[in-house]
Amino acid sequence: MPKKTGFLYNDIYLKHEMPDSHPECADRLRAILADLKVSKIWPSLIKVEPEKASYDDIRAVHADEYIEQVRRMKRGYLDPDTYMSEGTYEAALYAAGAIVTAIRKCKDGELERAFCAVRPPGHHAEEDRGMGFCIFNNVAVGARFAQKLGYRKVFIIDFDVHHGNGTQHMFYADDTVFYFSSHQYPHYPGTGGAMEVGIGKGMGFNYNIPLSSGSGDREMHDAYHVKLHEQVAKFSPDIILVSSGYDIHRMDPLAGLSVSNAGIKDIVDGILSAKRGIPVIFTLEGGYSLEAIAASVLITMEELLNYE
Ligand SMILES: [Zn+2]
Repeated sequence: MPKKTGFLYNDIYLKHEMPDSHPECADRLRAILADLKVSKIWPSLIKVEPEKASYDDIRAVHADEYIEQVRRMKRGYLDPDTYMSEGTYEAALYAAGAIVTAIRKCKDGELERAFCAVRPPGHHAEEDRGMGFCIFNNVAVGARFAQKLGYRKVFIIDFDVHHGNGTQHMFYADDTVFYFSSHQYPHYPGTGGAMEVGIGKGMGFNYNIPLSSGSGDREMHDAYHVKLHEQVAKFSPDIILVSSGYDIHRMDPLAGLSVSNAGIKDIVDGILSAKRGIPVIFTLEGGYSLEAIAASVLITMEELLNYE
């Protein structure tokens, strides 16, 4: 039986405009949609129009002064990598809103799994600043919203090639949100060592798998079929949220991991088999080869739909 699988996308994400030749461009989403729409799974996906995140949803993880800065800024750089255009604030609210919408629909029983095809991405965004192409931390907004709806324990998985510094910091002292990340290391943004395991109440609820350049399918299999399963079994989450960055692909121009299409499928299967019967929601982070990101998202959607 296919799973009730949502695909969340809004044209407003194309309005977050970038300077020419910036890798985090609207063509990434166009490439994903082009491949997905001609695939044989397209008719089986439940297309969902994402709602806009509310101010309170964003405030649950970001400082008021930072939200205000983003709202007021019409065009310019938040950091050397992170550009804002006139459409960025709205796009960012809808990017965070997609995961909020998906969680609500899972709670209502309309969906079991979902993928949010959004931009700007989120996992580098800190409480008080944007960085690394990220404006609002979408997955973190999702974690707090899920808790508001009664999903007490949230497990965040981040397989983007870059460490999700923002997400780690937001939940570092928290024992109700687990952060699990694999990433190239050392690499941007510099955080993500194996010794970073949380503090205070959050000790033991942060788990990093630093991977050296050149790592690929074999290392990912160990991460997502062994280590992930151990941590999920211990934590016993009520919902799983995934920062899915396809810059782990061997074709990606920005980083040095070497994951194949078969490796992408294996990671998604590892995530879906970690704990059955709870919602699993993916939100797009990086991935800068148009060919690789389109192929990878299609593989992800096939697994979300059909993997038992
Ligand atoms: Zn990345």
